[in-house]
Amino acid sequence: MQEIKDAGLYKNERVIITPQSSAIQVENPLASKQRSVNAEGSKRPEDSKPLSVINFCANNYLGLADNKELIQAAKDRMDARGYGMASVRFICGTQDTHKELEKVISDFFGTEDTILYAACFDANGGLFEPLLTEEDAIISDALNHASIIDGVRLCKAVRYRYANGDMADLEEQLKKAQAQRFRIIATDGVFSMDGNVCPLDKIYELAKKYNALVMVDESHSAGVVGKTGHGVTELYNLRGKVEIITGTLGKAFGGSVGGFTTGKKEIIDLLRQRSRPYLFSNSIPPMIAAAGIKTFEILTRSNELQDRLHENTAYFIEKMKAAGFDIKPTQSAICAVMLYDARLSQEFAAALQEEGIYVTGFYYPVVPKGQARIRVQVSAAHTREQLDRGIAAFTKIGTVLGVLK
Ligand SMILES: *Cc1c(COP(=O)(O)O)cnc(C)c1O
Repeated sequence: MQEIKDAGLYKNERVIITPQSSAIQVENPLASKQRSVNAEGSKRPEDSKPLSVINFCANNYLGLADNKELIQAAKDRMDARGYGMASVRFICGTQDTHKELEKVISDFFGTEDTILYAACFDANGGLFEPLLTEEDAIISDALNHASIIDGVRLCKAVRYRYANGDMADLEEQLKKAQAQRFRIIATDGVFSMDGNVCPLDKIYELAKKYNALVMVDESHSAGVVGKTGHGVTELYNLRGKVEIITGTLGKAFGGSVGGFTTGKKEIIDLLRQRSRPYLFSNSIPPMIAAAGIKTFEILTRSNELQDRLHENTAYFIEKMKAAGFDIKPTQSAICAVMLYDARLSQEFAAALQEEGIYVTGFYYPVVPKGQARIRVQVSAAHTREQLDRGIAAFTKIGTVLGVLK
């Protein structure tokens, strides 16, 4: 613990005391500290009042985390089908609600079948091991999410890694992987620290050329990328073509919990028989599944939220660039404001909080050394005024700290 603290890597959690939204209240760090020191009886000091902030660091891309329709759908289903399942899916944990959500997800992505998990971390963790053996190969993007990395580790297949989005390198690795029986190329749809989209069109082409399957994790891209938010397969016109898609209900799709793998029927069938996080972990509660069903209904009956997210993101990035900030090229709702210096990223984020803007600064080892940044996540829930307040605060602090000339 001391080593973690000495390295400046100790993570403190900020406590939110309102629903998740674009405007939230966070507990003053002084109050949190006092609670842990003296849990009983002590009064909140005057200077530890909650802070009202505009939230720019949730994965709440479509603003659904406090959506009234989802809350109602969850309440109604809890009344009708109870609180929990107290079972894994294959023993006695499958309700009509789960089957309905799986069907709705397949329709959304244009896939053949879907299997639910408690989280996308589990979907990725339980994906590779049932499908591949030591005779096979996984070719993985170097910046893939930790859950894909762990899923790969749990599988005996031979591992190849290619530099982020580097198609020449992917081709090299695919050539080497011809030595194995089956091959899966695994990639994030959107890479969460930069906001760039994977070149799925080229990945798909190479997969055909070198006889590989494609797995794409749509956690940060589904609901966000593509004209109607159907993800990277919409963006690249590959609907129904990619063999395996994984995703989460914890980001754009309502922000609660739940993960899924969707794709070819034979693959989903095999996962239901063999995938360990599915076989040995509880079913998601019916109310969560019902709110999931409602989410996809909202996103298909109108494009309002997707349009607003795209407008908000374009507006924010254009204004930030005009103000002189160095923004990583992005095709998602993630806007990485590059500061390079780790300490500066922390000072900048703290100063923004004083201005009522809630963001997080990231530095090594979350991003490469010398690549510190503040990651802004835009939401359909942000009003124009909230975006303007964010941009004004960034500009003010950027000037004070000498980032803007
Ligand atoms: C957030 C995320 C996950 C984990 O999703 P959970 O449902 O929260 O477990 C998996 N993969 C990627 C790419 C993510 O961004």
